[in-house]
Amino acid sequence: RTVYVNGEYLPEEKATVSIFDRSFLMADGVYEVTSVLGGKLIDFAGHAKRLERSLNELEMQKPDAFDDLLDIHRELVRLNDIDEGMIYLQVSRGSAGDRDFAYPSADVKPTLVLFTQNKPGLADSPKALEGFKVISIDDQRWGRRDIKTTQLLYPSMGKMMAKAAGCDDAWMIEDGHVTEGTSNNAYIVKGNTIITRHLGTEILHGITRAAVLRFAKEAQMKIEERSFTIEEAQGADEAFITSASTFVMPVVEIDGAAVGAGTPGPIAARLREIYLEESRKVAI
Ligand code: PMP
Repeated sequence: RTVYVNGEYLPEEKATVSIFDRSFLMADGVYEVTSVLGGKLIDFAGHAKRLERSLNELEMQKPDAFDDLLDIHRELVRLNDIDEGMIYLQVSRGSAGDRDFAYPSADVKPTLVLFTQNKPGLADSPKALEGFKVISIDDQRWGRRDIKTTQLLYPSMGKMMAKAAGCDDAWMIEDGHVTEGTSNNAYIVKGNTIITRHLGTEILHGITRAAVLRFAKEAQMKIEERSFTIEEAQGADEAFITSASTFVMPVVEIDGAAVGAGTPGPIAARLREIYLEESRKVAI
C-alpha cells in the first residue's frame, strides 16, 4: 500500500512518525474517514469541513496541504487502485521533540497522515440484509464528542464488550438516554417518523447523518431530533445506525430484545438504497 505522510507518498513500510508525536503520546489528534465508491469520494466536502471545525475547536494548525486534501485523497485512490473502501486521514499537533503537556509553539508543523483501506463489496455488505445486534453500555467518553479526536480507547472497549456478548456494536447511554453507537449515529423509527439524537457536544455530527436526514426529508419522512431511551428503542418499529463506513445499517436487536420483527425494517432498507444511489451520483 502507498500511504501519505507530510507531503510524501511512500510505501507503508517506509512511512514514519516521531515517537514524540502528540497523537502518540496524548491522543492529540483529529481524524476523518471518507468512503470510496466506484473509485470516487463520498461527501468529501462534508468531511473537509468537519476536519476544519475539529482543528479550530482544538486550536490546532491546519496542515500546509489542507487545500490539497482532495487531490491527495484522489491520488491515494489512484495509486492503490481503490474501487470500494475508505480513506483515513489524521492530523496531529506534531511535536517539538519532547513530552510536554503544553502545546508546542506555532512554528511546529502538524503531522498529516493518510492511508487507504481497500474494502471490495462494501456497498453490498451482506450484513445490511441481516442487521446489527447491539448492546447498551454506559457512555464513559470525554465531553466533547463533537470533535473527532483520536481518543478511541473507550469506543474500542465498547466494541470488545459487544463482541464478547456476540453482538456487532454498542449503543452508549448517558443520563438514561442513548448518545450514539461506538462509531456511528443511532436512530429509531416509529411509524413514518425517524428519531435521532439532536446535535450537541454529546455526539459526533455525522456527515452520513446529515445526508440521510436530508434524503429522508426529501422522501417525505418525518424527522424528530431528540434523545431516546433504550426501552423506547426496543419498542420501536425499526432501528438503524449511520456512518461513512457502514452507510445505513439496520439494527435488529438491542440488549437481546428484537426490534420490530427482528429483521431489517423497510425504512432503514429504503434509506440505505437512497443514500447509496444519491451519494454515488454526487461522488467526486
Ligand atoms: N459517531 C461516532 C462516535 C463516530 O465515530 C462516527 C464515525 N466516525 C459517527 C458517529 C458517524 O460519523 P460519519 O457519518 O461522519 O462517519
